[in-house]
Amino acid sequence: MRNWWKGLAVLLAGATGGYFMAGTDLGRVLEERQAEALGSLASRYVAEQVRPQLDASAAVKTVAGLNLIEVEVDRFQGNILRATGVANTYLVQTPAGNLLFDTGLSTQAAQHKRLLQKAAPGPVTHIVLSHSHADHIGGAKFWRAEFPNAQIIAHAKFRAGQQYLKALQPHFWSRNRLLYPFMPEEPPESGFAAYGGLTPDVEVADGTVHRFILGGVAFEALPAPGAEGEDNLVLWLPQQRALFSGDFFGPLFPMLPNLFTLRGEKFRDPVAYVASLDRLIALRPQMVLPSHFDPVVGEERLVADMQAMRDATAYVHDQTVAGMNAGKSLWALMREIELPPELALSQGHGKLSWNVRGIWEHYSTWFHFESTTELYPTQVRDLYPELATLSGGAGPLIAKAWQRLDQGQPEAALHFIEIALAGEPQNEAALQARLDALRQLLQRAVAEGGNHSETGWLKSRIQATEQALGAEA
Ligand SMILES: [Zn+2]
Repeated sequence: MRNWWKGLAVLLAGATGGYFMAGTDLGRVLEERQAEALGSLASRYVAEQVRPQLDASAAVKTVAGLNLIEVEVDRFQGNILRATGVANTYLVQTPAGNLLFDTGLSTQAAQHKRLLQKAAPGPVTHIVLSHSHADHIGGAKFWRAEFPNAQIIAHAKFRAGQQYLKALQPHFWSRNRLLYPFMPEEPPESGFAAYGGLTPDVEVADGTVHRFILGGVAFEALPAPGAEGEDNLVLWLPQQRALFSGDFFGPLFPMLPNLFTLRGEKFRDPVAYVASLDRLIALRPQMVLPSHFDPVVGEERLVADMQAMRDATAYVHDQTVAGMNAGKSLWALMREIELPPELALSQGHGKLSWNVRGIWEHYSTWFHFESTTELYPTQVRDLYPELATLSGGAGPLIAKAWQRLDQGQPEAALHFIEIALAGEPQNEAALQARLDALRQLLQRAVAEGGNHSETGWLKSRIQATEQALGAEA
Protein backbone atom coordinates (compact mmCIF):
# COMPACT_ATOMS: atom_id res chain seq x y z
CA MET A 1 0.00 0.00 0.00
CA ARG A 2 2.89 2.32 0.67
CA ASN A 3 4.97 0.97 -2.17
CA TRP A 4 5.62 4.40 -3.55
CA TRP A 5 7.59 5.21 -0.39
CA LYS A 6 9.98 2.49 -1.53
CA GLY A 7 9.87 3.99 -5.04
CA LEU A 8 10.95 7.28 -3.57
CA ALA A 9 13.90 5.71 -1.74
CA VAL A 10 15.02 3.83 -4.86
CA LEU A 11 14.59 6.88 -7.03
CA LEU A 12 16.43 9.20 -4.71
CA ALA A 13 19.20 6.61 -4.50
CA GLY A 14 19.19 6.39 -8.29
CA ALA A 15 19.32 10.16 -8.50
CA THR A 16 22.80 10.21 -7.04
CA GLY A 17 24.08 7.36 -9.16
CA GLY A 18 22.52 8.79 -12.31
CA TYR A 19 23.99 12.17 -11.70
CA PHE A 20 27.50 10.98 -11.18
CA MET A 21 27.30 8.56 -14.08
CA ALA A 22 25.77 11.04 -16.46
CA GLY A 23 27.79 13.90 -14.98
CA THR A 24 25.59 16.46 -16.69
CA ASP A 25 23.45 19.27 -15.41
CA LEU A 26 20.58 17.96 -17.49
CA GLY A 27 20.77 14.55 -15.81
CA ARG A 28 20.80 16.17 -12.39
CA VAL A 29 17.88 18.45 -13.15
CA LEU A 30 15.80 15.57 -14.53
CA GLU A 31 16.47 13.58 -11.40
CA GLU A 32 15.63 16.55 -9.18
CA ARG A 33 12.28 16.82 -10.97
CA GLN A 34 11.56 13.14 -10.41
CA ALA A 35 12.52 13.47 -6.75
CA GLU A 36 10.22 16.48 -6.49
CA ALA A 37 7.27 14.62 -7.99
CA LEU A 38 7.62 11.71 -5.59
CA GLY A 39 8.40 14.01 -2.67
CA SER A 40 5.21 15.99 -3.31
CA LEU A 41 3.26 12.76 -3.36
CA ALA A 42 4.80 11.79 -0.02
CA SER A 43 4.00 15.20 1.52
CA ARG A 44 0.39 15.00 0.33
CA TYR A 45 -0.01 11.48 1.69
CA VAL A 46 1.35 12.50 5.11
CA ALA A 47 -0.90 15.59 5.20
CA GLU A 48 -3.94 13.39 4.47
CA GLN A 49 -3.01 11.07 7.33
CA VAL A 50 -2.42 13.91 9.77
CA ARG A 51 -5.39 16.18 8.94
CA PRO A 52 -8.17 14.07 10.52
CA GLN A 53 -6.03 13.46 13.61
CA LEU A 54 -5.60 17.13 14.43
CA ASP A 55 -7.41 18.23 17.55
CA ALA A 56 -10.48 20.43 17.34
CA SER A 57 -8.14 23.31 18.13
CA ALA A 58 -6.36 22.80 14.80
CA ALA A 59 -6.40 26.53 14.25
CA VAL A 60 -3.90 26.69 17.12
CA LYS A 61 -0.29 26.15 16.08
CA THR A 62 0.60 22.53 16.82
CA VAL A 63 3.63 20.47 15.89
CA ALA A 64 1.45 18.02 13.92
CA GLY A 65 0.21 20.99 11.89
CA LEU A 66 3.69 21.32 10.36
CA ASN A 67 2.74 18.56 7.92
CA LEU A 68 -0.05 20.71 6.48
CA ILE A 69 2.15 23.65 5.51
CA GLU A 70 2.32 24.14 1.73
CA VAL A 71 5.69 24.59 0.04
CA GLU A 72 6.08 28.14 -1.25
CA VAL A 73 8.59 30.96 -1.18
CA ASP A 74 8.33 34.28 0.63
CA ARG A 75 10.75 37.13 1.25
CA PHE A 76 11.83 39.16 4.32
CA GLN A 77 13.98 42.27 4.78
CA GLY A 78 14.60 42.40 1.02
CA ASN A 79 17.38 39.83 0.76
CA ILE A 80 16.07 36.90 2.86
CA LEU A 81 13.98 34.22 1.14
CA ARG A 82 12.26 31.27 2.73
CA ALA A 83 10.92 28.05 1.26
CA THR A 84 8.21 26.77 3.62
CA GLY A 85 7.23 23.20 4.48
CA VAL A 86 7.62 20.86 7.43
CA ALA A 87 10.90 22.70 7.96
CA ASN A 88 12.04 25.89 6.25
CA THR A 89 15.00 26.42 3.94
CA TYR A 90 16.25 30.02 4.12
CA LEU A 91 18.33 31.73 1.45
CA VAL A 92 20.19 35.00 1.98
CA GLN A 93 20.86 36.73 -1.32
CA THR A 94 24.12 38.67 -1.73
CA PRO A 95 25.93 40.09 -4.79
CA ALA A 96 28.82 37.65 -4.16
CA GLY A 97 26.68 34.50 -3.92
CA ASN A 98 23.87 33.08 -1.85
CA LEU A 99 23.88 31.51 1.59
CA LEU A 100 21.50 28.84 2.83
CA PHE A 101 20.42 28.35 6.40
CA ASP A 102 19.06 24.81 6.91
CA THR A 103 17.84 22.72 4.00
CA GLY A 104 14.54 21.15 5.09
CA LEU A 105 13.31 17.58 4.74
CA SER A 106 14.77 15.44 1.97
CA THR A 107 11.28 14.84 0.52
CA GLN A 108 10.72 18.61 0.13
CA ALA A 109 14.30 19.56 -0.75
CA ALA A 110 14.07 19.36 -4.56
CA GLN A 111 11.01 21.61 -4.57
CA HIS A 112 12.64 24.05 -2.12
CA LYS A 113 15.69 24.17 -4.35
CA ARG A 114 13.78 24.80 -7.57
CA LEU A 115 11.60 27.55 -6.10
CA LEU A 116 14.46 29.32 -4.32
CA GLN A 117 16.69 29.23 -7.39
CA LYS A 118 13.92 30.66 -9.49
CA ALA A 119 13.40 33.52 -7.03
CA ALA A 120 17.11 34.11 -6.35
CA PRO A 121 19.35 32.83 -9.16
CA GLY A 122 23.08 32.63 -8.57
CA PRO A 123 25.64 30.32 -7.00
CA VAL A 124 25.26 29.03 -3.45
CA THR A 125 28.54 29.58 -1.63
CA HIS A 126 27.63 28.72 2.00
CA ILE A 127 25.30 26.20 3.68
CA VAL A 128 24.84 26.76 7.41
CA LEU A 129 23.22 23.84 9.24
CA SER A 130 21.52 24.54 12.57
CA HIS A 131 21.92 20.98 13.94
CA SER A 132 22.08 17.37 12.83
CA HIS A 133 18.33 16.54 12.75
CA ALA A 134 17.05 15.07 9.47
CA ASP A 135 14.43 17.78 8.95
CA HIS A 136 17.18 20.43 8.82
CA ILE A 137 19.90 18.77 6.78
CA GLY A 138 17.75 16.73 4.34
CA GLY A 139 18.42 18.99 1.35
CA ALA A 140 22.16 19.52 1.83
CA LYS A 141 23.15 16.78 -0.62
CA PHE A 142 20.79 18.11 -3.30
CA TRP A 143 22.43 21.55 -3.12
CA ARG A 144 25.96 20.21 -2.91
CA ALA A 145 25.40 18.14 -6.07
CA GLU A 146 25.10 21.41 -8.01
CA PHE A 147 27.45 23.50 -5.85
CA PRO A 148 30.21 21.13 -4.73
CA ASN A 149 32.30 24.06 -3.46
CA ALA A 150 29.59 25.46 -1.19
CA GLN A 151 31.09 25.61 2.26
CA ILE A 152 29.15 23.69 4.91
CA ILE A 153 29.25 25.45 8.29
CA ALA A 154 28.08 23.60 11.41
CA HIS A 155 28.70 23.27 15.14
CA ALA A 156 31.87 21.44 16.21
CA LYS A 157 29.64 18.71 17.70
CA PHE A 158 27.56 18.32 14.52
CA ARG A 159 29.53 15.33 13.28
CA ALA A 160 29.23 13.51 16.62
CA GLY A 161 25.49 14.25 16.65
CA GLN A 162 25.05 12.97 13.10
CA GLN A 163 27.13 9.90 13.94
CA TYR A 164 25.08 8.78 16.93
CA LEU A 165 21.75 9.48 15.20
CA LYS A 166 22.95 7.41 12.23
CA ALA A 167 24.32 4.60 14.43
CA LEU A 168 20.96 4.33 16.24
CA GLN A 169 18.79 5.00 13.19
CA PRO A 170 16.94 1.63 13.28
CA HIS A 171 16.16 2.16 16.97
CA PHE A 172 14.86 5.71 16.54
CA TRP A 173 13.09 4.87 13.28
CA SER A 174 11.01 2.09 14.84
CA ARG A 175 10.02 4.39 17.71
CA ASN A 176 9.05 7.17 15.31
CA ARG A 177 7.01 4.74 13.23
CA LEU A 178 5.04 3.70 16.28
CA LEU A 179 4.20 7.36 16.89
CA TYR A 180 3.72 8.25 13.22
CA PRO A 181 2.53 5.12 11.38
CA PHE A 182 2.45 7.01 8.05
CA MET A 183 6.24 6.96 7.92
CA PRO A 184 7.83 4.50 5.48
CA GLU A 185 8.75 1.15 7.03
CA GLU A 186 12.46 1.64 6.50
CA PRO A 187 14.65 4.71 6.13
CA PRO A 188 16.20 5.34 2.69
CA GLU A 189 19.67 3.88 2.77
CA SER A 190 21.46 5.52 -0.11
CA GLY A 191 21.31 8.58 -2.30
CA PHE A 192 20.35 12.15 -1.48
CA ALA A 193 17.57 11.13 0.89
CA ALA A 194 19.70 8.87 3.10
CA TYR A 195 20.46 10.41 6.47
CA GLY A 196 24.04 11.36 7.35
CA GLY A 197 27.36 11.51 5.58
CA LEU A 198 27.79 15.28 5.77
CA THR A 199 31.21 16.66 6.68
CA PRO A 200 31.26 20.34 7.62
CA ASP A 201 34.03 22.44 6.08
CA VAL A 202 33.89 24.85 9.02
CA GLU A 203 33.22 23.61 12.56
CA VAL A 204 32.33 26.24 15.13
CA ALA A 205 33.27 25.35 18.71
CA ASP A 206 31.42 26.47 21.84
CA GLY A 207 32.64 29.82 23.11
CA THR A 208 33.76 31.00 19.66
CA VAL A 209 32.10 32.91 16.80
CA HIS A 210 32.62 32.28 13.09
CA ARG A 211 32.41 35.70 11.38
CA PHE A 212 32.48 36.34 7.65
CA ILE A 213 31.29 38.87 5.11
CA LEU A 214 29.72 37.85 1.82
CA GLY A 215 28.79 40.47 -0.77
CA GLY A 216 28.74 43.16 1.91
CA VAL A 217 26.46 41.19 4.26
CA ALA A 218 27.99 40.35 7.65
CA PHE A 219 27.30 36.91 9.14
CA GLU A 220 28.07 35.46 12.57
CA ALA A 221 27.62 31.74 13.19
CA LEU A 222 27.14 31.30 16.96
CA PRO A 223 27.14 28.01 18.87
CA ALA A 224 24.01 27.80 21.04
CA PRO A 225 24.02 24.43 22.84
CA GLY A 226 21.03 23.19 24.83
CA ALA A 227 17.55 23.24 23.23
CA GLU A 228 17.35 20.50 20.58
CA GLY A 229 20.85 19.27 21.26
CA GLU A 230 24.43 20.15 22.02
CA ASP A 231 25.21 20.81 18.33
CA ASN A 232 22.92 23.84 17.91
CA LEU A 233 24.28 26.65 15.77
CA VAL A 234 22.40 29.89 15.06
CA LEU A 235 23.18 32.57 12.48
CA TRP A 236 23.17 36.27 13.32
CA LEU A 237 23.08 39.06 10.73
CA PRO A 238 24.24 42.04 12.81
CA GLN A 239 23.46 44.68 10.17
CA GLN A 240 19.87 43.46 9.86
CA ARG A 241 19.51 42.33 13.51
CA ALA A 242 18.06 39.09 12.14
CA LEU A 243 18.54 35.81 13.99
CA PHE A 244 18.20 32.49 12.18
CA SER A 245 17.40 30.24 15.10
CA GLY A 246 17.00 26.73 13.59
CA ASP A 247 15.29 24.71 16.33
CA PHE A 248 16.91 26.64 19.16
CA PHE A 249 13.55 27.93 20.45
CA GLY A 250 11.74 24.76 19.40
CA PRO A 251 8.82 24.75 16.97
CA LEU A 252 6.47 26.82 19.17
CA PHE A 253 7.91 30.19 20.17
CA PRO A 254 7.83 30.84 23.08
CA MET A 255 7.58 27.45 24.77
CA LEU A 256 8.98 25.38 27.59
CA PRO A 257 12.04 23.66 26.11
CA ASN A 258 11.88 20.00 25.21
CA LEU A 259 14.74 18.73 27.38
CA PHE A 260 13.40 15.18 27.21
CA THR A 261 12.34 13.65 23.89
CA LEU A 262 9.81 10.84 24.00
CA ARG A 263 11.18 9.29 20.81
CA GLY A 264 14.62 9.00 22.43
CA GLU A 265 17.79 11.00 21.79
CA LYS A 266 20.18 12.39 24.32
CA PHE A 267 19.01 14.62 27.14
CA ARG A 268 19.38 18.36 26.49
CA ASP A 269 21.28 20.29 29.13
CA PRO A 270 19.15 23.09 30.67
CA VAL A 271 22.18 24.91 32.12
CA ALA A 272 23.79 25.14 28.68
CA TYR A 273 20.43 26.27 27.31
CA VAL A 274 20.08 29.10 29.84
CA ALA A 275 23.63 30.28 29.02
CA SER A 276 22.82 30.19 25.28
CA LEU A 277 19.61 32.14 25.88
CA ASP A 278 21.54 34.80 27.82
CA ARG A 279 23.85 35.15 24.86
CA LEU A 280 21.03 35.49 22.35
CA ILE A 281 18.99 37.88 24.51
CA ALA A 282 22.03 40.18 24.62
CA LEU A 283 21.89 40.44 20.80
CA ARG A 284 18.41 42.02 21.05
CA PRO A 285 17.24 40.71 17.67
CA GLN A 286 14.59 42.54 15.69
CA MET A 287 13.59 39.43 13.81
CA VAL A 288 13.80 35.74 14.65
CA LEU A 289 13.63 33.35 11.68
CA PRO A 290 13.04 29.83 12.99
CA SER A 291 13.35 26.71 10.85
CA HIS A 292 9.75 25.72 11.66
CA PHE A 293 6.73 28.00 11.24
CA ASP A 294 6.97 31.75 10.69
CA PRO A 295 9.45 34.51 11.52
CA VAL A 296 8.64 36.65 14.55
CA VAL A 297 9.26 40.39 14.44
CA GLY A 298 9.69 43.05 17.13
CA GLU A 299 12.59 43.50 19.52
CA GLU A 300 10.51 44.09 22.63
CA ARG A 301 8.32 41.04 22.18
CA LEU A 302 11.26 38.84 21.18
CA VAL A 303 13.36 39.82 24.18
CA ALA A 304 10.40 39.33 26.57
CA ASP A 305 9.63 35.87 25.14
CA MET A 306 13.27 34.80 25.22
CA GLN A 307 13.57 36.04 28.78
CA ALA A 308 10.46 34.03 29.77
CA MET A 309 11.94 30.90 28.20
CA ARG A 310 15.20 31.52 29.98
CA ASP A 311 13.55 32.11 33.36
CA ALA A 312 11.17 29.15 33.03
CA THR A 313 14.05 26.81 32.17
CA ALA A 314 16.13 28.09 35.08
CA TYR A 315 13.11 27.82 37.40
CA VAL A 316 12.40 24.16 36.56
CA HIS A 317 16.08 23.34 36.88
CA ASP A 318 16.49 25.10 40.22
CA GLN A 319 13.26 23.69 41.70
CA THR A 320 14.30 20.18 40.74
CA VAL A 321 17.75 20.61 42.25
CA ALA A 322 16.26 22.09 45.43
CA GLY A 323 13.80 19.19 45.70
CA MET A 324 16.59 16.65 45.22
CA ASN A 325 18.60 18.31 47.97
CA ALA A 326 15.54 18.35 50.23
CA GLY A 327 15.33 14.56 49.85
CA LYS A 328 12.06 14.57 47.90
CA SER A 329 11.32 11.69 45.60
CA LEU A 330 11.44 12.17 41.86
CA TRP A 331 7.76 11.22 41.63
CA ALA A 332 6.77 13.87 44.18
CA LEU A 333 8.70 16.51 42.23
CA MET A 334 7.10 15.46 38.93
CA ARG A 335 3.72 16.06 40.59
CA GLU A 336 4.59 19.18 42.59
CA ILE A 337 6.72 21.46 40.43
CA GLU A 338 4.63 23.99 38.53
CA LEU A 339 5.55 27.09 36.60
CA PRO A 340 4.62 30.39 38.28
CA PRO A 341 1.78 32.11 36.35
CA GLU A 342 4.07 34.75 34.80
CA LEU A 343 6.23 31.96 33.31
CA ALA A 344 3.40 29.63 32.25
CA LEU A 345 4.71 28.87 28.75
CA SER A 346 3.30 26.40 26.24
CA GLN A 347 4.03 22.75 27.01
CA GLY A 348 2.98 21.75 23.51
CA HIS A 349 6.50 20.48 22.79
CA GLY A 350 8.39 20.32 26.11
CA LYS A 351 6.49 18.88 29.09
CA LEU A 352 7.33 20.15 32.54
CA SER A 353 7.10 16.88 34.51
CA TRP A 354 9.20 15.05 31.91
CA ASN A 355 11.80 17.81 32.06
CA VAL A 356 11.88 17.41 35.85
CA ARG A 357 12.58 13.71 35.46
CA GLY A 358 15.18 14.41 32.77
CA ILE A 359 17.03 16.84 35.02
CA TRP A 360 16.88 14.48 37.99
CA GLU A 361 18.29 11.54 36.05
CA HIS A 362 20.79 13.73 34.20
CA TYR A 363 22.35 14.62 37.53
CA SER A 364 21.73 11.50 39.56
CA THR A 365 21.18 8.71 36.97
CA TRP A 366 18.35 6.17 36.91
CA PHE A 367 19.06 4.63 40.32
CA HIS A 368 16.65 6.39 42.66
CA PHE A 369 17.73 4.65 45.88
CA GLU A 370 14.19 3.41 46.37
CA SER A 371 14.67 -0.33 46.05
CA THR A 372 17.36 -2.94 45.46
CA THR A 373 15.26 -4.26 42.57
CA GLU A 374 16.02 -1.08 40.59
CA LEU A 375 19.57 -2.39 40.16
CA TYR A 376 18.68 -5.61 38.35
CA PRO A 377 16.97 -6.51 35.06
CA THR A 378 14.07 -8.45 36.63
CA GLN A 379 11.14 -6.06 36.47
CA VAL A 380 7.91 -6.12 38.43
CA ARG A 381 6.21 -6.45 35.02
CA ASP A 382 7.83 -9.86 34.66
CA LEU A 383 5.74 -10.93 37.65
CA TYR A 384 2.41 -9.54 36.44
CA PRO A 385 1.05 -12.89 35.16
CA GLU A 386 1.62 -14.40 38.63
CA LEU A 387 0.26 -11.31 40.37
CA ALA A 388 -2.86 -11.64 38.22
CA THR A 389 -3.34 -15.23 39.42
CA LEU A 390 -2.81 -14.22 43.05
CA SER A 391 -5.44 -11.53 42.81
CA GLY A 392 -7.97 -13.99 41.41
CA GLY A 393 -7.55 -13.35 37.69
CA ALA A 394 -8.53 -10.37 35.55
CA GLY A 395 -11.99 -9.77 37.09
CA PRO A 396 -11.04 -8.14 40.42
CA LEU A 397 -8.22 -6.20 38.75
CA ILE A 398 -10.57 -4.76 36.15
CA ALA A 399 -13.04 -3.83 38.89
CA LYS A 400 -10.24 -1.95 40.67
CA ALA A 401 -9.33 -0.26 37.40
CA TRP A 402 -12.90 0.97 36.85
CA GLN A 403 -13.00 2.27 40.40
CA ARG A 404 -9.91 4.35 39.68
CA LEU A 405 -11.28 5.50 36.35
CA ASP A 406 -14.47 6.67 38.06
CA GLN A 407 -12.29 8.64 40.45
CA GLY A 408 -10.45 10.27 37.53
CA GLN A 409 -7.21 8.36 38.18
CA PRO A 410 -6.33 6.89 34.81
CA GLU A 411 -2.65 6.39 35.69
CA ALA A 412 -3.47 4.07 38.61
CA ALA A 413 -6.15 2.34 36.53
CA LEU A 414 -3.60 1.55 33.83
CA HIS A 415 -1.39 -0.29 36.32
CA PHE A 416 -4.26 -2.60 37.31
CA ILE A 417 -5.16 -3.08 33.65
CA GLU A 418 -1.59 -3.99 32.70
CA ILE A 419 -1.49 -6.67 35.40
CA ALA A 420 -4.84 -8.03 34.21
CA LEU A 421 -3.72 -8.09 30.56
CA ALA A 422 -0.43 -9.79 31.44
CA GLY A 423 -2.49 -12.74 32.70
CA GLU A 424 -5.05 -12.61 29.87
CA PRO A 425 -3.78 -10.54 26.93
CA GLN A 426 -7.05 -10.83 24.95
CA ASN A 427 -9.43 -10.08 27.82
CA GLU A 428 -12.05 -7.85 26.26
CA ALA A 429 -13.14 -6.12 29.48
CA ALA A 430 -9.52 -5.30 30.27
CA LEU A 431 -8.96 -3.93 26.76
CA GLN A 432 -12.13 -1.86 27.08
CA ALA A 433 -10.89 -0.45 30.40
CA ARG A 434 -7.53 0.31 28.78
CA LEU A 435 -9.28 2.21 26.01
CA ASP A 436 -11.14 4.24 28.61
CA ALA A 437 -7.98 4.96 30.60
CA LEU A 438 -6.11 6.06 27.47
CA ARG A 439 -8.99 8.30 26.42
CA GLN A 440 -9.05 9.92 29.87
CA LEU A 441 -5.31 10.52 29.63
CA LEU A 442 -5.68 12.00 26.15
CA GLN A 443 -8.49 14.28 27.27
CA ARG A 444 -6.36 15.48 30.17
CA ALA A 445 -3.32 15.97 27.92
CA VAL A 446 -5.35 18.05 25.46
CA ALA A 447 -6.81 20.13 28.31
CA GLU A 448 -3.29 20.74 29.61
CA GLY A 449 -2.16 22.17 26.27
CA GLY A 450 -1.85 19.14 24.01
CA ASN A 451 1.80 18.13 24.30
CA HIS A 452 2.60 16.77 20.85
CA SER A 453 4.60 13.75 22.02
CA GLU A 454 2.16 12.79 24.76
CA THR A 455 -0.94 13.06 22.57
CA GLY A 456 0.91 11.29 19.72
CA TRP A 457 1.79 8.39 21.99
CA LEU A 458 -1.71 8.15 23.48
CA LYS A 459 -3.39 8.28 20.07
CA SER A 460 -1.12 5.54 18.81
CA ARG A 461 -1.98 3.35 21.86
CA ILE A 462 -5.70 4.09 21.50
CA GLN A 463 -5.54 2.98 17.88
CA ALA A 464 -3.72 -0.24 18.85
CA THR A 465 -6.33 -0.96 21.57
CA GLU A 466 -9.22 -0.32 19.20
CA GLN A 467 -7.63 -2.73 16.74
CA ALA A 468 -7.20 -5.37 19.45
CA LEU A 469 -10.86 -4.92 20.44
CA GLY A 470 -11.93 -5.10 16.80
CA ALA A 471 -10.05 -8.37 16.45
CA GLU A 472 -11.88 -9.66 19.56
CA ALA A 473 -15.34 -8.68 18.31
ZN1 LIG B 1 13.24 20.43 13.49
